Amino acid sequence: MTEDLKKLTSGCSCGKKHSLSTRDIFVGAGATQKLIDYIKDKYDATSALIVCDANTEKYARPLADALGCRTFTHVADARANEIETARLTSYIKSNSLKVSVAVACGSGCIHDITRYCAYENGFPFISYPTAASVDGFVSGVAAMTMHGQKLTYPSASPDALFADDDVYSEAPRRLTASGVGDIIGKFTALFDWEIAHMIIGEHLCPEIASLMRQALNGVYNAASEVGGADSKDFPRRVMDCLILSGLAMQLMGNSRPASGAEHHMAHFWEMHVANPPTDALHGEKVGVATIHVLRRLEALRNSHLPQIDIDIAHVFDKNRVQSIYGELTDGIIKENLPGGKNEYSSSVLYNISPDCLIKNEKQIMELLAGLPSSEEITRVLHGCGAPTTLGEIDLPQDKPFEDVSAIYSPYVRNRLTLMKIISANLVTRGEV
Ligand SMILES: [Zn+2]
Ligand SMILES: [Zn+2]
Repeated sequence: MTEDLKKLTSGCSCGKKHSLSTRDIFVGAGATQKLIDYIKDKYDATSALIVCDANTEKYARPLADALGCRTFTHVADARANEIETARLTSYIKSNSLKVSVAVACGSGCIHDITRYCAYENGFPFISYPTAASVDGFVSGVAAMTMHGQKLTYPSASPDALFADDDVYSEAPRRLTASGVGDIIGKFTALFDWEIAHMIIGEHLCPEIASLMRQALNGVYNAASEVGGADSKDFPRRVMDCLILSGLAMQLMGNSRPASGAEHHMAHFWEMHVANPPTDALHGEKVGVATIHVLRRLEALRNSHLPQIDIDIAHVFDKNRVQSIYGELTDGIIKENLPGGKNEYSSSVLYNISPDCLIKNEKQIMELLAGLPSSEEITRVLHGCGAPTTLGEIDLPQDKPFEDVSAIYSPYVRNRLTLMKIISANLVTRGEV
């Protein structure tokens, strides 16, 4: 880990104290042997548990053989949900295992399942990513789909991360392209963080925002170069940026630096309340969502921001929410009004007035002008082989679905984004 990051934990210009619990990071050739040595040195190696899925078992077995420990294999492409976490927890309990450390040997979902169970059961875990596909390896939150609702849970960060060039570089190209999509989404995530800071004074740490910008630029440059995605070092460049993005989240203590309107839209699709389930990867959905969010934001560039008092009661009216979210309605209302269903002041929209939008309009327009165009992002994602259309990720490719996604995806989180303001204005005006 770089000294720059450690410095932020002893004092930051934003006035907050940040913390990092991931002590060691090694990315490169020979990381697998380093991981084995690390576990033998720091934990009871025979009580380690390697968590993998059917796709990554081939990497888990040699680790388990070298350590003399067990593996637990999830089904191929296992989702991070209550079923898989229960399977892992019940395996540990039914075998009365005292796990000294778990190793997440896989991609994003295996990490979330492992980190969630590690946190619930009180043992540490180590990240051993097998693909440069997602930015959550070192984050401290678990992105779970529990009983159909997509939520982030406070969880444990890994004690260490070991990423072996000879392992993750061998992953299918599709997985690395998904990692690009996850990072490309930081354009709108960072934009939304700045908007929220400007409009409602949400805390923004400039150091962490700059780390995230560094990760974003790294991937954007690597993917924009001619033949960039085909170069031998491309997975490594993506992996480095994914780790940096995860560390930024860990320092912040939440996913704000990494997740804005584009992630809300991806989560909305992952909850499949308005679409059939899709097998698309998280980063693929984020990439396509980024294009759609950018299109909506582009439409604002030559007009004015909405100017109307938001009617929060109307926006979170139970019948309205139910018409889209069905049985997830109570959870969605609770997320948006955490203080109680009539406690409108607990919504991030509570302090949004026409005045504050007018006052900040010039600056917001400047930020909008600084975003890349949806065409540019389409070109970059396409160049890496990532999907760029709804049809390519098995979602309905029509205007009504695009509109429903734009209006109702901001409901997945009580987090301010410009898309949330636009959505609430349209609902208040009765235009949807
Ligand atoms: Zn993501
Ligand atoms: Zn800070």
